[in-house]
Amino acid sequence: MFFTSTRARLNIDASEAIVRGISAEGGLFVPSEFPALAPAFLARLIPMTYRERAAEILSLLLPGFTREEVRTCVDSAYTGTFDDDEPAPLYALGPGIRMLELWHGPTCAFKDLALQILPFLLTKAIGKSAPGRTAVILVATSGDTGKAALAGFADVPGTKIIVFFPQNGVSPIQKLQMTTQEGANTGVCAIEGNFDDAQSGVKKIFADEEMARFLAARNMAFSSANSINFGRLAPQIVYYVSAYCDMVREGRIVQGEKINAAVPTGNFGNILAAVYAKRMGLPLGRLICASNRNNILTDFLRTGVYDRNRPFYTTSSPSMDILISSNLERLLYHLHGNDPEATGALMAQLSSAGRYEVSPAILELLEAEFYGGFCDESETRRTIGELFREKHYLCDPHTAVAVKVHGDYVRETGDDTPCVIASTASAFKFARPVLESIDTSPVPEDDFAALRRLADLSGRAVPRPLAELGTKEVRHRSCVSKEGMAEFIRTFLD
Ligand SMILES: *Cc1c(COP(=O)(O)O)cnc(C)c1O
Repeated sequence: MFFTSTRARLNIDASEAIVRGISAEGGLFVPSEFPALAPAFLARLIPMTYRERAAEILSLLLPGFTREEVRTCVDSAYTGTFDDDEPAPLYALGPGIRMLELWHGPTCAFKDLALQILPFLLTKAIGKSAPGRTAVILVATSGDTGKAALAGFADVPGTKIIVFFPQNGVSPIQKLQMTTQEGANTGVCAIEGNFDDAQSGVKKIFADEEMARFLAARNMAFSSANSINFGRLAPQIVYYVSAYCDMVREGRIVQGEKINAAVPTGNFGNILAAVYAKRMGLPLGRLICASNRNNILTDFLRTGVYDRNRPFYTTSSPSMDILISSNLERLLYHLHGNDPEATGALMAQLSSAGRYEVSPAILELLEAEFYGGFCDESETRRTIGELFREKHYLCDPHTAVAVKVHGDYVRETGDDTPCVIASTASAFKFARPVLESIDTSPVPEDDFAALRRLADLSGRAVPRPLAELGTKEVRHRSCVSKEGMAEFIRTFLD
């Protein structure tokens, strides 16, 4: 197994794929084949802990890393960083429905599962190709990714991380999460502008030759932590396999029996990990792709037409407010029989016309594997309210979208195969819309008061990372214009 690109024929190893993040011609790195999760291998995982399972599975996915290296990365990432020793526990919502809770980490959302381990994978990878070089992670964020990346990279030797966020484009809590970040290697800076300004500024700096020379002179180089990096995808495969093993262990299914998976989807990274687990041989049936009002993926999975020429809506599930789902490119590549020309042609149409259409044969493959559905704002709120009143389960708006679409799927098809539903954020992270859904009194103006109110109503404690924000010292106060970003970086690195 080696790595190639969705738009070119390459042969690189896992380390290089992780260090480079994205291929020079714009394609994404993909494995040339899928390592097999043989039944005997799976059987061995069943009695293991999450960390032990992760070490086994990641060793398959990262040829070139020794078992010892993978083991060290896994232990560093998942020991003492989550609120439970098992970072991805299951919760029984109904006889055959298990919530896969992916929000027990330091930023209370599923991105922690990947961003807690990526820094260790990345520094090991650099150690192989460019020993001694410091990786400088540059992130433009609209909120959640920036904090998750900061939490992952803080004080990891051999790395520095700089996060830019739009001054008025993140919530007060999100802003505090970033500006109170500890760690000698962390830089956080507000931008006078919106998210697009921050993002285009970061892209320009990545491509700037003068900046590249500045870094090279200090034995540094930029790296990316965004969701198209294979180093973020691989750790996400682990929790689908682990959830399956847990269901076998609890006796809910027998090994070999199929389960479905429902995933609240934005950039298509989380659900793509389920696709990869299935290609590796995990007995997964239907993959239920749940969108919010930005339902471009629902339309695509039902018609074969991907068309981003449509209005963009801001919703209560902001991490799914996306019109270009980058990781879908990997699925297209595999469905086209690993054909970089066919994939590149579709992506060229997407960038020139904002639209492409797959062939009837590919649409048939999509329909066989996926169910696409969506959930609007009022249904999202109703679902949160119903789950709370009827099942005493507190769920965030992203997760509610998946619960609702899974319900639609069962009603429409009669398929009541056991299902894992990815629960991607703590309800406390989105306390405002959650309170509006479960309570009729007005939501407190102050965000911390809203957190306390949600705790009172639900009888659950505010997660520690959010509760302690109010008492943390603000360490990052810089705010620059878009033109000032490069100067901020040079000053920080010198
Ligand atoms: C990022 C995110 C998603 C979407 O995941 P993708 O991998 O982008 O599809 C869903 N829910 C939450 C809470 C997220 O942070």
